[in-house]
Amino acid sequence: MQFTAKTPNVGVASFAKDHFKIEGSTITVQVQTVIETQVGEIPVYKADIRFFKPNSGEYFYLPGCHSAEHLLSTAIYAIHGAKILDLSPMGCMTGFYCTFLAPELLEHSAWVRVFEDALAIEELPGALPETCGNYLMHDVISAKKALREFLAGFSEKKLRVK
Ligand SMILES: [Zn+2]
Repeated sequence: MQFTAKTPNVGVASFAKDHFKIEGSTITVQVQTVIETQVGEIPVYKADIRFFKPNSGEYFYLPGCHSAEHLLSTAIYAIHGAKILDLSPMGCMTGFYCTFLAPELLEHSAWVRVFEDALAIEELPGALPETCGNYLMHDVISAKKALREFLAGFSEKKLRVK
């Protein structure tokens, strides 16, 4: 099968979103799947943490994105621990995905705390050759600028829970 930019979506959730409608400084949370357990159903949430409006000409600087990943991961795992399944950058350099089990993260204030804690970190965690795949490719100043700008635009109505 040949794939092109116009190939019908084979089921990639992100491709199903109208990217013209996505704004910067937004977090959109959806239920990704529901796990059946003996004690009931557990929803698995996926957040689209969008720093920059898609195709706006403004994107993460790659080393800044990498440092933002280290800062945000550290802050979110420190608070929410084992309820975080993943936090990773979008390949388009406009934001991050976060997959989690923590219903606390359906609240605006919980995300504000994660970002504030990330900004308060002074020395970049994990930036050593034994703990990072490209430990020299970091820019904490650029990362913190992006985190601060995200927070400045992140009002309560910019957390959308679907
Ligand atoms: Zn790294």
